[in-house]
Amino acid sequence: MSLEHTIYGSPVFQQACRQFDLAADILEMEPGLRDRTKQPRRCVVVTLPVRLDSGKIESFEGYRVQHNLSTGPAKGGIRFHQDVTLGEVAALAMWMSWKCSLVGLPFGGAKGGVVVNARDMSPQELERLSRRYIQEIAPFIGPQVDIPAPDVGTNEQVMAWMMDTYSNHVGHYDPGIITGKPIALGGSLGRREATGEGVAWFTKAYLADLGIKAADTTVVIQGFGNVGGETALALESWGAKIIGISDFTGGITNPKGINVREALDYSAKNRSLQGCTGGDPVNNAELLELPCTVLIPAALERVITRENAPRLRCRLLAEAANGPTTNEADKIIAERGDIELIPDVLCNSGGVIVSYFEWLQNLQNYYWSKQEVFEKLHRQLAQAKTAVDEAQARHQCSRRTAALVLGIARVADAKAKRGLFP
Ligand code: NAD
Repeated sequence: MSLEHTIYGSPVFQQACRQFDLAADILEMEPGLRDRTKQPRRCVVVTLPVRLDSGKIESFEGYRVQHNLSTGPAKGGIRFHQDVTLGEVAALAMWMSWKCSLVGLPFGGAKGGVVVNARDMSPQELERLSRRYIQEIAPFIGPQVDIPAPDVGTNEQVMAWMMDTYSNHVGHYDPGIITGKPIALGGSLGRREATGEGVAWFTKAYLADLGIKAADTTVVIQGFGNVGGETALALESWGAKIIGISDFTGGITNPKGINVREALDYSAKNRSLQGCTGGDPVNNAELLELPCTVLIPAALERVITRENAPRLRCRLLAEAANGPTTNEADKIIAERGDIELIPDVLCNSGGVIVSYFEWLQNLQNYYWSKQEVFEKLHRQLAQAKTAVDEAQARHQCSRRTAALVLGIARVADAKAKRGLFP
């Protein structure tokens, strides 16, 4: 069945499907199992009427796509963004399935989204929207069914409101419903840093394979939110020079190195990097083509394209964002042969790994130190890197396809062994 023309049909969903097909070809998956593994299991579309501060009522559209529930409860973030589509959420849910499987977590994959520009909302409006979204999807989620988390446009405070809403719905405190919560509400130490810490860990590991040292490393990062900011801090403290950063307003570049802490403080105070004096202004298109050792897209999908892929001037492309590279750009990068790519499902897996730790701590009501969290995280990242490097050598394919082969094979195997009901 061609999924490209279903309700999920969109460029980003097609991108995820093409990536899947390359891996499924290597696995020689028979058509029945192939379709069953690829298709999202189910989706919910909800209308969210919210009373604005003006008294006016505005309705927003929200989604939750559960791609795979065969290997455990589904897991995946919730995105608040004006350009969210059902197809995008489905693609992100699919990638969550392969990512959880690749790094050995007992989860399936899911993702949620609301079509809204949350930046334009007051905190009170944002709270009402967050609560209404969880209330509407409450019959479809649960600590043993589907466990959401933060993504673009959502944060710890949003997770707190969502956890509170769900807990009121079931009648008792239930922190295992969502991860990425504040520490006071059962959040895990290290979760806030986890995705960036993982991106930095893989960057350092692949630079070591290339024989490149911290002092010789320059870094450009697109997206200066949770993931971009934490990645910048981790790589700066390792000794690399962060020479370019950006957000939705554009960015700055400074060949002498940007002071990351100052830029973060500026961004928190002004709600964007616009006007930040830590470097020369640069737009997002120019930023991606700056000469650097490591280029880290940490914002949205499909920013590395057929147009700019030939012009990239990095040695390592570390995909902190999900889906930043189009299929065409993947091909160009492979043909160029001078750029090592760390694929999203591997590169940003630190976030969901520590989300898993948070869920475990919630279920056990027993909380770990940050050191324990990071030790376990690093061990799991190292195992995943070794497995992907071995699979790449075995199948003589790109690192992305090798990672997907591992992730997809485990999900398909679980489905085949569970059998088909009825
Ligand atoms: P965030 O909302 O905290 O930050 C997003 C950043 O991207 C902001 O700085 C925003 O201004 C910027 N941005 C938005 N549109 C842009 C554009 N057109 N050009 C340049 N910058 C733009 O989100 P986040 O949680 O940091 O997520 C970033 C990426 O990382 C997403 O792809 C997300 O799916 C992925 N990811 C996040 C996590 C997590 O734990 N939060 C885990 C794994 C993967």
